[in-house]
Amino acid sequence: MINRLTIIGVGLIGGSLARALKNAHAVGEVVGCGRNIEHLQNALTLGVIDRYETDLGAALHDTDVVVLAVPVGVTLSVMQSIKPHLDPKTIITDVGSSKGAVVQAAQQVFGDALENFVPGHPIAGTEKSGVEASFAELFHKRRVLLTPLANTSTAALQTIRQMWETTGAFVEETSVAHHDDVLAATSHLPHMLAFALVDALATMDDKVEIFRYAAGGFRDFTRIASSDPQMWHDICVTNDKAIVAMLDVFMADLERLRNAIKTGDSDYLLQVFTRAKKARDQFSMDS
Ligand code: NAP
Repeated sequence: MINRLTIIGVGLIGGSLARALKNAHAVGEVVGCGRNIEHLQNALTLGVIDRYETDLGAALHDTDVVVLAVPVGVTLSVMQSIKPHLDPKTIITDVGSSKGAVVQAAQQVFGDALENFVPGHPIAGTEKSGVEASFAELFHKRRVLLTPLANTSTAALQTIRQMWETTGAFVEETSVAHHDDVLAATSHLPHMLAFALVDALATMDDKVEIFRYAAGGFRDFTRIASSDPQMWHDICVTNDKAIVAMLDVFMADLERLRNAIKTGDSDYLLQVFTRAKKARDQFSMDS
């Protein structure tokens, strides 16, 4: 049971976490904090938070856990502004989609005093943004990766693990570097492909015709291109090396596929499609 939880950035992820913990009666009070009063008022009206504060001192007073649920690009400035108001007992966690930059920001702001900082990332989301899109079941049966640091305290880690388990998530621990490499492959690369495909088609001369005749395959493949541009900008900037490495591998594979189509290499085409279908079918069975 967390007595008081402060969420900075009550959007899709922050709002869904608040809803899940409230539904499970696992939190006494949820305090929302952010830059936009209208959005915070909306969160209050929806019952996602119990009160909101725009003053950080008031938002962080006597709070047990503070969750940073803002775009990763603003993590550093948010950490700098919360630092003077933090109680030594308050546990800090985040939900950012890349972890290297978040940990670097924490080290820059808090130095070695990182016992109460537990970096985290729920592997769950949708292409929608804002508190209106939040829902309590978002993390149910989904993974949450925690990337504790060498000096993260066992008690802080245990509190954040329990918090996520309460939402119905499976919690795993991994290293920061491993997290960023794996997510570059499984999440960041597919988003790059979806954004690039939709943008390429949207900027073609006959785009009206293309979108009119686009069918299920296009819809399935490109849903995630509706995701928030600022959030994805920040992920690219903060996980650039791993994403570029994955793009290089993928572009080499795509070039081979292009050549096989051009030269009519049926064996290669059937080999790739068969292998991919088997892997995708297996993934569907496992998930
Ligand atoms: P969201 O719905 O857009 O919510 C973001 C929240 O951050 C909003 O409350 C927003 O406040 C606040 N915010 C934005 N820019 C800010 C700034 N410059 N200063 C202070 N607050 C700011 O986004 P989200 O999908 O919840 O994403 C939040 C975090 O979760 C990101 O770090 C993202 O990488 C991570 N994440 C997202 C997903 C996903 O699928 N969406 C999945 C896992 C993790 P306003 O109301 O004022 O705009």
